[in-house]
Amino acid sequence: MFKKILVANRGEIALRIQRACRELGVKAVMVYSEADRDAKYVKLAEEAVCIGPASSALSYLNMPAIISAAEVTDAEAIHPGYGFLSENADFAERVERSGFQFIGPTPESIRIMGDKVSAKQSMIKAGVPCVPGSEGELPDDPVQIKRIAKMVGYPVIIKAAGGGGGRGMRVVHTEAALINAVAMTKNEAGAAFGNPAVYLEKFLQNPRHVEIQILADKYKNAVYLGERDCSMQRRHQKVIEEAPAPGIPRKLIERVGDRCVAACKKIGYRGAGTFEFLYEDGDFYFIEMNTRVQVEHPVTEMTTGIDIVKTQIMVAAGEKLPFTQRQIQIRGHAIECRLNAEDAFKFIPSPGRITMWHPPGGPGVRVDSHVYTNYFVPPNYDSMIGKIIVHGDTREQALARMRTALGETVIEGINTNIALHRELMVDAKFMEGGTNIHYLEGWLTDHVR
Ligand code: ADP
Repeated sequence: MFKKILVANRGEIALRIQRACRELGVKAVMVYSEADRDAKYVKLAEEAVCIGPASSALSYLNMPAIISAAEVTDAEAIHPGYGFLSENADFAERVERSGFQFIGPTPESIRIMGDKVSAKQSMIKAGVPCVPGSEGELPDDPVQIKRIAKMVGYPVIIKAAGGGGGRGMRVVHTEAALINAVAMTKNEAGAAFGNPAVYLEKFLQNPRHVEIQILADKYKNAVYLGERDCSMQRRHQKVIEEAPAPGIPRKLIERVGDRCVAACKKIGYRGAGTFEFLYEDGDFYFIEMNTRVQVEHPVTEMTTGIDIVKTQIMVAAGEKLPFTQRQIQIRGHAIECRLNAEDAFKFIPSPGRITMWHPPGGPGVRVDSHVYTNYFVPPNYDSMIGKIIVHGDTREQALARMRTALGETVIEGINTNIALHRELMVDAKFMEGGTNIHYLEGWLTDHVR
C-alpha cells in the first residue's frame, strides 16, 4: 500500500478521498487554491499545499503545480477525484512520467473513452449494446451525411466526439435542418473541445439514464456493482440518483453488467469506471464511459457495502480486487440528493457564507459534505456543496428516510435547492419510480411559477 497520496481536487470529493486514506492508514496530502484555504479538510490535513489562486485554470487545473506539490511532499500517487483533471489523459501521462501512480485507468484507456467515437467503436467490438448511428465520425460529404441520417431514422442527435458535461449536442428532426446542424455542432466542438469531429445517432425520445459501476484491477479481474438510475436531470446535469433502477429486471442488468465487465477485460481497464446507458423499452444503449469516480458513487456503496474510493486506491497500489462477482450482493435501496448552492427553482447560483449548517442524521443517513457553519462557499467553482444519501430496505423506506433527512436539514445564509428536493420526494410520479430523463424539466415547467 502507498504511504502517502496527493488529493488533486477540492470540496466534498477531496474530503471523501481523505476519509478513505485515513481508513487505509495512508497519509493524504491535500492541495488547495487560495479560495479554499479555510476548508476544514485542509485544516485537518497532515499536509496541505497551496497550488495557486482561486481560478481553477491556475490551481486545480494547473498540472505543473500539482505535480510539484506531489514532489515536494514525497507522495507516491495522485488521486484526481472527479471533474478538473480526472479524465485528462495528458495529465495521467504526466503524472506517471514524473514517477507517480495515477489513481485511475491508464492514459490509453482515458484517451479511448474520452473520444466518444473511439469509445463507441470499442464498445461495439466488446459486444456492449450501443445507440444505432453513424459508424464513427461523420464524413464531410452532405449526400453521405443525409444517407446515414435517413438510414438511422429521424429524429437524430449530432454529438461532438470530444464533448462532455452535456455540451456539444444538437437534435435534428428533419432532413432540411440536418446539414446546417452538423456544421454548427462541428464549429462549436472545434472551439469548445479542440476537436471538430462529430458523429450521429438515433435520438431516443423518452429514455431513462441508467449506468453500471465497475471496478477492475491490474490483473484483468473486473466486477460490476449493479446499476444507478440518474434520470432526474436538469440541463443534462444529474440532480437525484438512486440504486437499484426501479422496475428493470435483474436478468437484464446482469446481462449488460457482464458485457461491461467483458469490455473492461478486453481493453485492460483498471480502477473505477462507469458505463452510461440510455434505457428505453427494455433495451440498453451505451452512450459513454466515465473513467473516474462519480459524484453518485455513494448510492452504490450503500447498496453493496463496498467502499469504491478505498478500492480505487487499493487497485492502484497493485492489490487484487478483494471480492468476486459472486460475492457482490445488492441490498435494499439508496437515494442521493445533490445539495447545490443555488436558488431552488430559478437555479441562480448562491455563493456566500453559510451562517447555519445543521445536517441530518439517523439510521441509513449519510451526508458527504465539506461545509460547516461559517463556511464561505466560493463563487469560483461548481455550486454543489454536498450530498445527502439514504439507504432503506425498500425504495419506500429510502424515500421516507430522505423526506425526514431533508426535513431536518437546516442551511442558512445562502440559498440551496433543498426546497426542490422536498417537493420531488412527495411527487407522485417520482414516488412511483422509473421517470425518464425529461421528467424533471417538464415538472419544473409545470410547477415553477
Ligand atoms: P456528456 O458527456 O456531455 O454528458 P452524454 O453522451 O453522456 O454527454 O449525453 C448526455 C445526455 O444527453 C444524456 O444523459 C441524455 O440526456 C442526452 N442524450 C445523449 N445521447 C442521446 C440520444 N442518442 N438520445 C437521446 N438523448 C441523448
